[in-house]
Amino acid sequence: MTAQILYGKPLAEQIRGELAQLVVSHVGSGGAVPCLAAVLVGDNPASEVYVRNKRKACREAGMESQLHRLPQDASERDLLSLLDQLNAAKSVHGILVQLPLPQGIDTTRVLDHVSPQKDVDCFHPENVGLMVQGRPRYLPCTPAGVQRLLLHYGIETAGKHAVIVGRSEIVGKPLANMLLARGRGGDATVTVCHSRSRNLAEITRTADILIAAVGQAKLITADMVQPGAAVIDVGINRTDAGLTGDVEYDAVRHVAGAITPVPGGVGPLTIAMLLANTVTAAQALHNGNPGGAEAVH
Ligand code: NAP
Repeated sequence: MTAQILYGKPLAEQIRGELAQLVVSHVGSGGAVPCLAAVLVGDNPASEVYVRNKRKACREAGMESQLHRLPQDASERDLLSLLDQLNAAKSVHGILVQLPLPQGIDTTRVLDHVSPQKDVDCFHPENVGLMVQGRPRYLPCTPAGVQRLLLHYGIETAGKHAVIVGRSEIVGKPLANMLLARGRGGDATVTVCHSRSRNLAEITRTADILIAAVGQAKLITADMVQPGAAVIDVGINRTDAGLTGDVEYDAVRHVAGAITPVPGGVGPLTIAMLLANTVTAAQALHNGNPGGAEAVH
């Protein structure tokens, strides 16, 4: 068997094209140009690239973006006061604090300080709570990208066993909730594994949909995959051989029914979902509905 390859790039381009049209009609009806403010603290080279790519994607969708830089030795107080300004700024609809933050800064305290209405990463506890209750204001970007990919390629989730390896707040945990939620792209039976899980391979072999979000190159080998399963690789690992995922792609693609490549799978969708949330935030403000936005997803 050779798996169907689930490319994320063309889908991300399609979504960004749709967003560009939405922006035109939103502005045409008197709305402000959606604006994403990125906050970059220190000089992490990978973070520089991520922020540059996000700002480029904004431009291409007809959106505005701002870059707010703070030095590596900035204090938590400096960062919180910048967030106060951005929370209050009428022209800013979404705020992105690029992670990781330098040591000495309490990431949770910082993320909690972003206005929930502008929290387009969906990290604020208010937004996480709404999402878990099945009435999301925003969907977290990477899990939303995974769900869009499954929907786009017609991979049924209802009644299927989805196994997620990884329980982070950014990927594993929210994705588990989204696949569990009632309705389209949900209704799965979900198992979440982590570093303390016993007999990992036994569990992953029962997956109809196997999602790896660990950060360890080639952790998922062919013997851990049920023949015909859909394998979604969220991992991004920088190795001597270049960027690789968490899945041993060359071997697993001969067992799986469908598989995402790395790069070019889930990654491009994460940015598209961030833009979608920012457009949603701008629409919600324009419609006088900053407490509940659901226009784009
Ligand atoms: P994270 O916060 O480091 O979480 C990793 C998770 O994997 C943890 O739950 C950990 O378990 C679990 N784990 C570690 N070793 C394991 C093992 N041997 N067996 C089973 N589980 C294990 O990472 P993250 O932020 O979720 O990111 C995961 C990967 O996705 C990274 O490569 C990251 O770069 C990538 N990523 C990609 C995108 C994208 O847009 N494509 C977005 C976000 C992240 P414990 O909880 O027990 O420690």
